[in-house]
Amino acid sequence: MNNKVVIFSAPSGAGKSTIVNHLLNLFPELEFSISATSRAPRGQEKHGVEYYFYTSDEFRSLIADDRFVEYEEVYAGSFYGTLKSEVDRIWAKGNTIIFDIDVQGGVNLKKFFGEKALSVFIQAPSVEILRERLVGRGTDTPEAIEKRVAKAASEMEFAEGKFDYVLINDDLQTAKDEAEKVIGDFLKA
Ligand code: 5GP
Repeated sequence: MNNKVVIFSAPSGAGKSTIVNHLLNLFPELEFSISATSRAPRGQEKHGVEYYFYTSDEFRSLIADDRFVEYEEVYAGSFYGTLKSEVDRIWAKGNTIIFDIDVQGGVNLKKFFGEKALSVFIQAPSVEILRERLVGRGTDTPEAIEKRVAKAASEMEFAEGKFDYVLINDDLQTAKDEAEKVIGDFLKA
């Protein structure tokens, strides 16, 4: 069995989900890893679809039982993590796992999986362009945009040298084509 994983991390606004969804449509052997979280479901979210939802107590006992590959308190009081059982579930089908995860989580996963993993960092071309995109999206207040931009700048700095591949999302179509080539080669290898 092949037992591979693909990890995508990016600062917000870099177009990560679009690229990951493109790859999922293209390569049937890729399967999305469903994370566990202690945050409450939003809207129509269901246990086992978007996330495995647990209470904080349940999540803590899963940590105590060493059931996670990695976990993080992403927001105060809200834990997110990848269960070992999720990795086993996907590998048992002979599929390759694809992660769409924040930068710190991506670095931790690469450390855990080593050579089995290809980690890709999607970089927005510059902090200025990232700000323009967030403004253009029109979904955040100016304060929220500045917070995201500051977080993105520190994530870009942190990510430096910690990923196998850096994909610059200057033009979305070019970035999709490049992702297709890099992941295609990794799946074939
Ligand atoms: P949301 O609550 O909006 O669905 O996700 C919030 C954040 O949690 C995102 O930045 C996402 O990347 C991060 N996240 C989701 N799943 C995991 C996980 O399994 N591990 C870690 N470390 N972060 C995760």
